[in-house]
Amino acid sequence: MILVIKKNTSADDLAAFIGQLEKQGLAVHRSDGTEQTILGLIGDTRSLNEESLKAHCAVSRVMRVQAPYKLASRAFHPASSVIRAGNAAFGGGAFTVIAGPCSVENSAQVCGIARSVKQSGARVLRGGAFKPRTSPYSFQGMGGAGIDLLLAAKRETGLPVITELMSISQLGLFRDVDIIQIGARNMQNFDLLKELGGAGKPILLKRGLAATVKELLMSAEYVMAAGNEQVILCERGIRTFDSYTRNTLDLSAVPFLQRETHLPVIVDPSHACGMNWMVPTLAKAACAAGADGIMVEVHDNPECALCDGEQSLTPAEFGALMKTLSRYAEIEGKTL
Ligand code: PEP
Ligand code: MN
Repeated sequence: MILVIKKNTSADDLAAFIGQLEKQGLAVHRSDGTEQTILGLIGDTRSLNEESLKAHCAVSRVMRVQAPYKLASRAFHPASSVIRAGNAAFGGGAFTVIAGPCSVENSAQVCGIARSVKQSGARVLRGGAFKPRTSPYSFQGMGGAGIDLLLAAKRETGLPVITELMSISQLGLFRDVDIIQIGARNMQNFDLLKELGGAGKPILLKRGLAATVKELLMSAEYVMAAGNEQVILCERGIRTFDSYTRNTLDLSAVPFLQRETHLPVIVDPSHACGMNWMVPTLAKAACAAGADGIMVEVHDNPECALCDGEQSLTPAEFGALMKTLSRYAEIEGKTL
C-alpha cells in the first residue's frame, strides 16, 4: 500500500504517524521527493482500514498495490483450484453442468428431472428447498422435506446435489448436501459467510444483484479466511438500467475473475435472462468466455412450475443444449 503525505505535514507529525504504522506490524519505506513524501507500507495490509487512513491529517492519498482479497487472489495462488463434489470437478479442464429445478416440488418431479439431466450429461443436481422469494406470499420452498427429496434423488442417480442455504439455523439439515449454495441476496451476509468457514464442503457463491466483482471476491475471501477454501464463484446477472432481461449477464466478469482469482467461475444463464428461449445462447456464450461450467434450471412441466417456470428448459431442450455444448467445450479444450 502506498500513502502520499500532505505537503504541509510537520516532521513530528510524520514521525508519529510512521511510528503508529510500525506498531501495527508494518515496515514503512519512506521516500522523500522534491515535491512529495511517499510511504510504502510493506507487510500484511489487509486489515488496514483505507477510509480511516484517508481521514488521517497527514495523508493526501491512499493506493492499494495488492488486492485486499489475498486468499482468493491468483497473485498469491497462481495455479487454478479444482473443487470436487462427488464425481464432479469445477476447474482444471472440465466444463461442469449443474441442472435441475428451481425448487424441489415433490418426489416424482425431482427424481424424474434428476434421471433425465443425468442422462444428458449433467454432473450435479440442483433444487431449491429454502427459496428466497420477492413476495412473502409466493412459494417459499419445501424446507427440510425438500432436502430429503433431493437426497433421495442423489441416492437414486448418484449425482451430487446443491441447494441454497439462507440462514445459519438451517445448516444442520445440509449434512449430506454436497455443495452449499449462497444466493445472490445473501452474498454479503457476512455472519453467514463466516459460519461457512467450518462447513467442510464446497460453497457456490452467487454474485449479488448489485455487487461489483471485487465485492464478490471479498465475500469469497470471508469464507476462505474463516477456513474453507472450497469456493466456486457464480456470475448470475446483475441489476442494470435495462429490464428487457431479468438481469444483465456480465459475461466479461468471467475472464476478469479468472485473471484475478484461482477459484472456479461458473455462469447461471437461467437467472441472468429469465427467458427459457435465451438460456441456450447464454450457456454457449459462457462456455466460449471460458467459464468452468454453468448452472441451468430444468423442469419437466415449466408451465406448472412453482417457481421460475418461464426460465426453465424442458428435459428435451436441456438434452439438445448438452449436445451443442459438448462441441463448444471441445473447442475450449474442456471435457463436458
Ligand atoms: C437460485 O439459484 O435458485 C436463485 C435463487 O438464484 P439467485 O440467488 O442467483 O437469484
Ligand atoms: Mn430460480
